[in-house]
Amino acid sequence: MTAPSAPGRPSGLILTDGLTKDYRLGPHVVHALRGVSVTIARGEFVAVMGPSGSGKSTFMNILGCLDTPTAGRYVLDGEEIGRLRRDALARIRNRKVGFVFQQFNLLPRVSALENVELPLLYAGLGARERHERARARLAEVGLADRMDHHPSQLSGGEQQRVAIARALVNDPAVVLADEPTGNLDTRTSAEILAVMQRLNRAGLTIVIVTHELDVAQCAQRVLTFRDGRLRNDEAVTAPVDAATLLAGLEEEQEVTA
Ligand code: ADP
Ligand code: MG
Repeated sequence: MTAPSAPGRPSGLILTDGLTKDYRLGPHVVHALRGVSVTIARGEFVAVMGPSGSGKSTFMNILGCLDTPTAGRYVLDGEEIGRLRRDALARIRNRKVGFVFQQFNLLPRVSALENVELPLLYAGLGARERHERARARLAEVGLADRMDHHPSQLSGGEQQRVAIARALVNDPAVVLADEPTGNLDTRTSAEILAVMQRLNRAGLTIVIVTHELDVAQCAQRVLTFRDGRLRNDEAVTAPVDAATLLAGLEEEQEVTA
C-alpha cells in the first residue's frame, strides 16, 4: 500500500526543523510537539494522521501561522516564521494560507459569492475585482449556478466547495484542511476529494488532516503523528482517484435505485 518516501527531498515550500510546542497549564507543561522535522515540496498533496491528542492540530496551527512554536524552525515559502510577531504572522497567513474546516465555517447570512469575497475584502481589493475573482473560484469548484445561494440553501458538499473557493481566492501558497470530510457522507467526501485532487494536479499544495485511511489514500504522502512526534512518513504508491471512486458510487446508486 505504501512505501518509504524518497530521501533527500528538495528544499520545500514548507520546512520544519525540530518543531516543538509546549503548552503551559498552570504548573503543568503539555508537550504537544516534540521536535518535528519535515519538508513538504510545492505541489504535494499530504495527509496527516494519528490518534487524538497526537499533535496534528498543533502542527497545522503552526503551519497555518495561527500559532508559533516554542522551539525549532518553521520556514514557509522562504520566510522564517518561527519568531514573528502577531501582526507579521497575520499578514503572512492572509497572503499564503487558505483554510478549510470540518464545519465549513461560512457566514450564514450572506451569499456564497460574498463568503468567497471575504478574504479579498480584508486584503483591501475593490468591489469589481472581488466579484470577478470570487466568481472565477466558485466556477472552478462547480458552483457557477449557486453563487447567490446562502449556506442554508446549499448541501453539505456544496458548502464545503464554497469554503474551498474561499480558501483559494487569495491564491495561497498552501491549503490546509482539518478533517474537511469529517461531516460528509461517503459520496460527498469523494466529491470533495475529487475537487482537491483536481486542484492539486493543477499545482496546488494541500495538507489535510484525516482520521480515515480511505481519505488519506487519496493523498500522495501520509505523515503519521504519535505523542507529538512524527512517527511515519510514507509515500502512497498508488493514490486512489476520487473521481473514479465517485463515478463508481454513483453507478452503484443507479443500480440499487
Ligand atoms: P490532535 O489534533 O492530534 O488531536 P492536538 O494538537 O490538538 O492533537 O493536541 C496535542 C496535545 O496538546 C494534547 O495533549 C492537547 O490536550 C494539548 N493541547 C492542545 N492545545 C492546547 C492548549 N491550547 N492548551 C493546552 N494544551 C493543549
Ligand atoms: Mg485535532
